[in-house]
Amino acid sequence: MSREEKKTLKDMYDSQMKQFFEFVESMKKSLGVPMFPDMKSGKALYFDQREITLRFIISVENIKEFFNGLAEGKLLGTKCKDCNQLYFPPQKDCPRCRTSNMEWIELSKEGELLTFTQINVKPYSFSHYDDYIVGIVRLPEGINVTAWIRENDPKKLKPGMKMRLEIVKREPENYYTYEWVPVA
Ligand SMILES: [Zn+2]
Repeated sequence: MSREEKKTLKDMYDSQMKQFFEFVESMKKSLGVPMFPDMKSGKALYFDQREITLRFIISVENIKEFFNGLAEGKLLGTKCKDCNQLYFPPQKDCPRCRTSNMEWIELSKEGELLTFTQINVKPYSFSHYDDYIVGIVRLPEGINVTAWIRENDPKKLKPGMKMRLEIVKREPENYYTYEWVPVA
């Protein structure tokens, strides 16, 4: 789907939602309560709305090495120097030892596909993407890494197949992230 078509799809969705809201608002106004009949069953539904804008500002000071690593093409995790436990996503403290005696280590960029699922019903904030597949891959180090899979056809994937991790910039966010690519 081209970016233009996606925009049209979003416009259609927005315009349908607008019509729906107008209907609901008119019902609420005439009844004087936040209630309207379901189109199919006629049963009473409750509706209220608030717009939410999502913005994320969270401290990543403790794991900034992870993002710096991505920019250098590396996937980094952390390892507890006391018990040797590996952590991915990286953690700055070991919950087993209750210490911060950790070191950064570069992880393998290959592994074995454990399982995957295709996302057809996307969260609204991901609606500009085509259907996508998310998978869990087991690294030789014994830890699992969940990421998008660069393959749109689920029939071409099966658990146990070899996968390679690539660090990429994805549109429209255009910052470094990582995804799994099936090894042909
Ligand atoms: Zn530990």
